[in-house]
Amino acid sequence: KHLGTELSGLGFDVTSGIGGHGVVAVLKNGEGPTVLIRTDTDALPVLEQTGLPYASTVRATEQTGREVSVMHACGHDVHMTVWTGTARQLVANKDEWSGTVVMIAQPAEERGSGARAMLADGLFTRFPRPDMSLALHVNSVLAAGRIGVTEGFAMANVDMVDIAVLGVGGHGAYPHATKDPIVLAAHIITALQTLVSREVSPLDPAVVTVGSIHGGEKHNVISNRVDLQLT
Ligand SMILES: [Zn+2]
Repeated sequence: KHLGTELSGLGFDVTSGIGGHGVVAVLKNGEGPTVLIRTDTDALPVLEQTGLPYASTVRATEQTGREVSVMHACGHDVHMTVWTGTARQLVANKDEWSGTVVMIAQPAEERGSGARAMLADGLFTRFPRPDMSLALHVNSVLAAGRIGVTEGFAMANVDMVDIAVLGVGGHGAYPHATKDPIVLAAHIITALQTLVSREVSPLDPAVVTVGSIHGGEKHNVISNRVDLQLT
C-alpha cells in the first residue's frame, strides 16, 4: 500500500492487487522502449536480532496457523527502498530519457508463486509489455557501494520439497519395537548431500539444503513422524 501511494504521488498510474498483493505503476514519457523494473516485497518467518533501532517487531500468522516473527531477512526492504529511489530519480530526470517505465512490486517471491500470480492476473496483457526487465537483489559478498551486473540469469532456480518420514513410534527404552523416523531422517539428510557430490555434473551449480526438520515431543519418546523442508 505504501509503495503504491509513494508512486502515485510521483505521478505514476498505479494499480494495486495484481496477483494478490502486487502493485503495478506505469509512467509514460514519450516515445521509446518499455522497461520493467521489479522489486519483491515479501518477508521471511525469521526473528530480527540485529538490535537496530528500526528492527522488525512484526509478528504474523503463517498459512499453517503458526504464529511467527517476521523480518525482511533476504533484503527485500532494501529492494523496495532502491525501487522507490529509482522511481524518484526517473521522475526528477524525466528530460533525460523517453519511453515507458513499468514498476512492479511483486509479492510471494520466497514461495516462488508471486510472479506467476501477477502474470496470470494480466501483468503483460493489461499493462504495457516490457521490451526488457530489470530486477535486483542485495548481495552481502559485494562491498558496500558496489554493484554487480549480469545478463540473463543472476540467481538459480529454486524448488521446494517436503518430505514426511513416517515411522512407528514407541517408548525410547524399546527402540527395537519401533521404526524411529528421527534416525531415518538423519540418514536421509546425510544421503541427500551425495545428490550434488555424486549425481550432478561438477560443471553444473547446484545445492541441496534441508532448512527445517521437525519431529518428536520428548526426550524418551520415539515419534511417529519427522517432517523435512528442503530447497
Ligand atoms: Zn530475496
